[in-house]
Amino acid sequence: MPDQNLKLATRLIHAGVAPDPSTGAIMTPIFQTSTYVQTAPGEHKGYEYARTQNPTRAALQSALANIENGKYGLCFGSGMAATDAVAKLLQPGDEVIVSNDLYGGTYRIFTKIFANYGIVFHFIDMQDAGNIANYVNEKTKMIWVETPTNPLLNIIDIEAAAEISKAHHLLLVVDNTFASPYLQNPLDWGADIVLHSATKYLGGHSDVVHGVLIVNDAALEERLRFIQNSCGAVPGPQDCFLVLRGIKTLHVRMQRHCENGRKIAEWLRQHPKVGKVLWCGFEDHPNHAIARKQMRDFGGMISFTLKDDNINAALEVLKKTELFSLAESLGGVESLIGHPATMTHASIPQEDRIARGLSDSLIRLSVGIEDADDLIADLAQAIG
Ligand SMILES: *Cc1c(COP(=O)(O)O)cnc(C)c1O
Repeated sequence: MPDQNLKLATRLIHAGVAPDPSTGAIMTPIFQTSTYVQTAPGEHKGYEYARTQNPTRAALQSALANIENGKYGLCFGSGMAATDAVAKLLQPGDEVIVSNDLYGGTYRIFTKIFANYGIVFHFIDMQDAGNIANYVNEKTKMIWVETPTNPLLNIIDIEAAAEISKAHHLLLVVDNTFASPYLQNPLDWGADIVLHSATKYLGGHSDVVHGVLIVNDAALEERLRFIQNSCGAVPGPQDCFLVLRGIKTLHVRMQRHCENGRKIAEWLRQHPKVGKVLWCGFEDHPNHAIARKQMRDFGGMISFTLKDDNINAALEVLKKTELFSLAESLGGVESLIGHPATMTHASIPQEDRIARGLSDSLIRLSVGIEDADDLIADLAQAIG
């Protein structure tokens, strides 16, 4: 098992996996079993029942902890199941401060599920992280940050959020799905819990739905593992295998996502029909300095508007792209195009969306790892 002093590229390939002791298989097998035979009651090899433990999941959990610079990894059946587990740390009356530009499903589970259990959520602009302190009171238990934000691609200062969180003994959760461990490691900046939808960059091939939590604190790990086992939203072993395979190429994929992202962002920016281009790698991006501080590169997520700023012009572009497939999700090897207002963020009421700067004409790209010139030609013919 490689230690955390090795470079990320090495850890991505070797962390968590050891040759299978019974066969020497270099890749961790898919342990498709629900239970494990005991030699006498309570005498077993560390595996009792597959909701609680599974060797394929155990390999993945340990790999994920390693690549996020954490101690413990916990896997779930989806990113939302991981979110659900974190929210179950809370009790009625507790308050959470949440970044206001975030994954639509997170907004939905907080406002439509956990609000019914008496938990109070404050959705606020965290581009100035100092703003978080204005919402802390004696009931506050958690700060929830998603950075880069979705779909406006702002950057939130994790270190500054962690200072406020620690000063008030709160839990800081960072949804690191958009950045992936290749671009940023929130635990290093003081986060308590890192969350991933492994459906996205970690899996990387648009063939699995999976969620992850990574923590450093043993007591917190125990509480989350209790929730994982009690509530049972665990992934199957084949899904764990797919994520385990996916992360082995995270570094080479991300390198290309970043290269292509830069080329396409720069190309879009000089296009006469394009309005605003939102990409944190631009030096004049309002949070570029924070991005430079906490991220190693700027990724392949780009949002833009059209100068003809209306929904129909945007829908025309979405209809015409051929290499960019119109689909929800992101982070796979293939390029996707989406319309947040009607797709990923449709569960946020229109007036809330507009107030947050998410205009009806905003288009979001998940730039894949195809040839950049082909991707640009596709956008050129679609934008016209
Ligand atoms: C997709 C996504 C989620 C939810 O993950 P699922 O795997 O779809 O359940 C959470 N956060 C972010 C930022 C996402 O993109």
